[in-house]
Amino acid sequence: MLVIVAMRTKAQAQRVAELTGGKIILKDNKPTCKVSLSGDFEQYREDVESISVLFKLYDKAGKPVPSGWTLTGATFEVEWPKDSPINSHFGARRFAYNWALATVKSDMDAKKKDANYVSTQWTLEALRKRWNQEKDAVAPWWASNSKECYASGIADLVQALSNWSQSKKGKRKGKRVGFPKFASKRKDPGRVRFTTGTMRFEDDRRTIVLPSIGALRSKENTRRVQRHLVKNNARLLNCTLSERWGRLFVSCQLAIRDKIASPTNKAPSKPTIRAGVDLGLRSFATVTDSNEDRIVFPNPAPLRAAIAELKRTQRQLSRRIPGSHGYEQAKTKLNRLYRKTTYMRRENVHQVTRYLVDTYGEVKIEDLNIAAMKRSMGRRAFRRSVSDAGLGAFRPTLTYKAQRAKVKVVVVDRFFPSSQLHHGCTGRLVGAKLAKRLTCDTCHAEVDRDDNASLNIRDWSDVTRGLVESTALFVPRPLVGTGDSSDDGLTHHLERADKSS
Ligand SMILES: [Zn+2]
Repeated sequence: MLVIVAMRTKAQAQRVAELTGGKIILKDNKPTCKVSLSGDFEQYREDVESISVLFKLYDKAGKPVPSGWTLTGATFEVEWPKDSPINSHFGARRFAYNWALATVKSDMDAKKKDANYVSTQWTLEALRKRWNQEKDAVAPWWASNSKECYASGIADLVQALSNWSQSKKGKRKGKRVGFPKFASKRKDPGRVRFTTGTMRFEDDRRTIVLPSIGALRSKENTRRVQRHLVKNNARLLNCTLSERWGRLFVSCQLAIRDKIASPTNKAPSKPTIRAGVDLGLRSFATVTDSNEDRIVFPNPAPLRAAIAELKRTQRQLSRRIPGSHGYEQAKTKLNRLYRKTTYMRRENVHQVTRYLVDTYGEVKIEDLNIAAMKRSMGRRAFRRSVSDAGLGAFRPTLTYKAQRAKVKVVVVDRFFPSSQLHHGCTGRLVGAKLAKRLTCDTCHAEVDRDDNASLNIRDWSDVTRGLVESTALFVPRPLVGTGDSSDDGLTHHLERADKSS
């Protein structure tokens, strides 16, 4: 038996080869990050993990094999310590980000004037090296903050530059990314990421220790992370300290052993049942399963109330004079409401997705293009309600939970007009743009928009492309034989929005 372990760096691969007696794989006679090992990987596991748990495994054929580790994260709100250097750290990160951006820009200008000019590479290593050469001149105070601040700011800029260039080359999905802009204190929320140094979750399950910041008291019990760390079932990879709504948070990235991250004892209660989920604004989700049972998850009443209050407070704020007592009061209230609604939306998404993966063997959802939805929906109030509903977080949350529970998730084609076809009939539904009830133009039945859409999603199958094994009873007429709905006259609002961008 042969396994290939891919490390993150060549130095790590070198050490793995020394410890295990494996061979570094060469490419064009140069060493790579990959090491080939013979025999069972488990006999080398301890050695490899002593170097890093961020490795990938491949079998002889080059097929990826689970490494035994899952990446995950956790966030804890912590108390603002008195007389702490936190704000200074946030400022230092922003300074380094702006310094790196200015350096890159002046390099670009110099290159324009003189083609022989040698620019600093857009990598963390190169820019950090240059920072270390220049820091005494540009920031004589640098020693009063952790060096991680400067690394964190430079790393963020390198990422932003890479996003921009990938987007320019058309290699990046989604909205076009612009060239990075200078960060201002007002627009750039304070944050700094620690990747090295002492990061610790103390045994009291309250204290989180960060390098150069020291101990921070969590407002919530840290058990869910600490218990894995203490049993050596998880590794702390990095911690980010950040500010939001005037509060302080520590988010950490962890690698957790697979058996801990996804215990296999939890199977869905109806493994043979398939469900279609229609996400919407009136009700958060409408679920119809292959037993013809339907569950509607409304937007929670407290969330609706908080959103109404949020809108009222936003109006209040706009009428008050900046700097006045009343203005500050409204702003504090607004911050509190933002926090509240964010938490409630997140909770709602978690509850619905948890229900789905605990119940069904297969879940079908629509491929919602949230950005296009916002653009196409015209009215400002409606655009806001798209954001309000927190639909964007639904699919990623469902996907990771389903992976762990081994539930199948099928994403329905973006151009499938689920709300325009009458389910089980060949007719087309007509009605006002956002009307709850629609009428079929063929059989003249009146149906609920969300109920009908969830049925269509449940029974959708892309026969022409063979992506989904078909268990569907119904294949919508306009899709048969074409596999493309763009010329069938049923212009879906999402599709229209997509083309205009
Ligand atoms: Zn009909």
